[in-house]
Amino acid sequence: MDIERLWAPWRLGDVQGAAAAEPAGDVARWRPGADQSCFLCRAASATPEQDRALGVLERTPLSVVVANRYPYANGHLLVAPLDHRATLAALTAEQHLDLQERITAWCGTIERLMQAQGFNVGLNLGHVAGAGVPGHLHWHIVPRWSGDVNFMPTVAGVRVLPQSLDALWEQLTKAAGESVP
Ligand SMILES: [Zn+2]
Repeated sequence: MDIERLWAPWRLGDVQGAAAAEPAGDVARWRPGADQSCFLCRAASATPEQDRALGVLERTPLSVVVANRYPYANGHLLVAPLDHRATLAALTAEQHLDLQERITAWCGTIERLMQAQGFNVGLNLGHVAGAGVPGHLHWHIVPRWSGDVNFMPTVAGVRVLPQSLDALWEQLTKAAGESVP
């Protein structure tokens, strides 16, 4: 069953016209093999000034971490290689290691900062497995709290997310010690 997400702060931003338009990546910075219609490639090639609007939390020489625009829960992050790659076998050992290190670090940050009590960490490989962007591998980090599946999804088919993406971005980038423009 599809669950509609009710996300009041974000919608308020839309209503007020305050939501920033998503910037296109910098063409000169596109990675080899990048798909210019892919939001993860855009995040991979964005300038630091564009990171906030794109929800980019961290970019290493091999990986990018973004706040999911369509979260299942508050603090739902995506961890992806910078390169547009569809299969696990297409990644190098160095990319695999960097991705796992990013997942480890961000689970730690969310646990510390948001008092997450557990996580669902996973990968949807291919359309049939539910991948929204099947051409660009990405791991989901979904924080969990005791009782987070409350009456709202059951009764109304709706999830309530208490924090806007922008507020989440600010909280997590500050925590990671990065400069916030
Ligand atoms: Zn891509």
